[in-house]
Amino acid sequence: MTRTNPTRSAAALPLAGRASSLIGSVIDSSTSLLAAQKHDIVRFAMGSPADEAVPLEEFRDIAASVLDHSSMTYGATEGEPRLIENLLGYLQDTADPTAADRVTITAGGMQGLDLACKIFIDPGDLVIVESPTYTNGSATALSYGADLLEAPIDEHGLVVEALPDLVAMAGRTPKAIYTIPNFQNPSGTTLSLARRQQLLELAHLWNAVIIDDDPYGLLRFEGTDLPSFQSLSPADPLLFSVRTFSKILAPGLRVGWVDTDPAIRQLVINAKQAMDTCTNVPAQHIVAEFIRRGGLDSHLAGLRTEYRSRKNAMQQSLRRHLGDRVSSTDPEGGFFLWLTLQGADAQTSTRRLFETALAEGVAFIPGPALSAGGKFDDALRLCFASTTIDRAEEGIQRLARAMDRELVG
Ligand code: PMP
Repeated sequence: MTRTNPTRSAAALPLAGRASSLIGSVIDSSTSLLAAQKHDIVRFAMGSPADEAVPLEEFRDIAASVLDHSSMTYGATEGEPRLIENLLGYLQDTADPTAADRVTITAGGMQGLDLACKIFIDPGDLVIVESPTYTNGSATALSYGADLLEAPIDEHGLVVEALPDLVAMAGRTPKAIYTIPNFQNPSGTTLSLARRQQLLELAHLWNAVIIDDDPYGLLRFEGTDLPSFQSLSPADPLLFSVRTFSKILAPGLRVGWVDTDPAIRQLVINAKQAMDTCTNVPAQHIVAEFIRRGGLDSHLAGLRTEYRSRKNAMQQSLRRHLGDRVSSTDPEGGFFLWLTLQGADAQTSTRRLFETALAEGVAFIPGPALSAGGKFDDALRLCFASTTIDRAEEGIQRLARAMDRELVG
C-alpha cells in the first residue's frame, strides 16, 4: 500500500506549487483497493461503523418524509436551521455543549479539518501532529503548505510535556496543534485531563490554534467522559473543534459540524461559500429528523454496548491466536486497536505483511500509513467496530497465518 502523487510525471503542466503537497490517502485508497478484490476479505482497514449499526429502516422512512422541494434547493451555508436546532438540543446534555452562533454544518469531519487549515495555515507554518496520527488530517495541513512537527503519544495521549523541547528544537513556535483527544485514531488513547489543561496553556503561550478533532467522543463504552477543551476554556478563539456524524450515524451521509468562536465562524462560512456553498441538504434533513424523533440517545447506547463487546472479543481473539506476538492498546471507546509486533515478529514490515494478509483474506492499515513521517513499520491498526465477532475471530486467525508466512519467508 503506497501513496501516489502523479505530479512527477506531469512536470510540464502548469500545476500550482501545492499540487506536489497533495499526497493522497492510503486509508481512503484502501476502499477501492478492497472493493476490487475478488476473494473474501475480513475488513479491519476502514474506520466504518458496522452495517448493522446504521439505522437503515428509520433512514428510509425519514428520507421519504423529508424529500420535498425545500430539501432540493440551496441551503444556508452555516447549515439547515432544523439540524442546528436539534443538534444543539442533543449536545446540551453531553460533555460538549455549544451554541447556535458557534456551529457550522460541514461535509463531514474532513471538511472541518480543511476549513481549519484554510483559515489558519500559511505555507511554511509549523503544525504539531501526533505520532501516530490520522494522516488524512496531517495531509490536510500539508496541502496548505504546513511543515509538520511530529510529537509522541503514550497511553495518556499526546505527550504534552515533550512539546516545549520539540518546539525549541524546531526553532519556531507552532501555528496549530492537531490533536484527536478521545480514543485517538489510530492508537485508541485518550488525552488526560492534566494534559488537556497543559495543552491549552501552551496554545496560549504560542498563540497557536488547537484543532480538536473528535469524531469518537460520543462512543465511550468504558470509564467516564473527560471535559472537552471547550468546557475547560469556554469562548476560546484558539479552539477549533471538528465533529462528525460519520462514526455515530453513517459516513456516507457526509454530515459533520465545526464549533468555533463566532468571529472565526464567519471566516468558516466565507471559506465554505468559496468551497461548496452548503452541505448536502437532504442528508442534513435526514440527520435532523433522526435526532428530532429522539433516536440518537438509544442508538448511541446500542453502539456503545455493541462496540464494547466487539473490542473485548477482538482482544480475546488476539490473545488466542497471537498471544504475546503482539501488544495491543486497550481503548475505552472509539473504533481502533493499535498493535505493535513483538519478539521475532517485530522484524516483519507491516507494509509487507499487508500484502500477505490480503492474500490470506484479511485487511488492516499498516503503521507507516498512519504516521506523517512513515514510522511504525512494526505496528498496524485494526478497526474492531465494523466486523461481527465471528468474522473478527476468522480475521485474526488469517492475520496469524499471514504473520507465520512472513516469519518463515
Ligand atoms: N478525523 C478522524 C480522527 C477520523 O478518524 C475521521 C474518519 N476516519 C475523520 C476525521 C473524518 O471524518 P469524516 O468521515 O466525517 O470526514
